Amino acid sequence: MPNTYLMKKVWTMPSKVEEAYKLKRKVAGMKQFDLKCRVCHKKYGKNFTFHHKKYVTGEQIYKDFRSTHDYNLYILPRIEQDPNRFVLLCGAHHTLVEKLKRFKKDKLKRLFDVVNESE
Ligand SMILES: [Zn+2]
Repeated sequence: MPNTYLMKKVWTMPSKVEEAYKLKRKVAGMKQFDLKCRVCHKKYGKNFTFHHKKYVTGEQIYKDFRSTHDYNLYILPRIEQDPNRFVLLCGAHHTLVEKLKRFKKDKLKRLFDVVNESE
């Protein structure tokens, strides 16, 4: 029996949102990303983010956009064109990477030394 609740939800979903959702899923399925978080290998789903390894001069950033939807329409084709500049991360690991990026290199090394020395 078809799930009528789910069908209704799909039908009422605004088409532009659905379009961006499909495009994001398609890009996440590229071989560079393999539909999983690079860190924990969790399967692609809600709150996944394409993390920039490198920004290109002149490229707009998330806060330049009014909504996540507008940002996605801008960034997803760019990711598709140059996937090696990005990493697919689950929400938790994206947050963690952004926090650790704020550490200076020597401090980050000492932090990882402590982690590696710990059982
Ligand atoms: Zn993860």
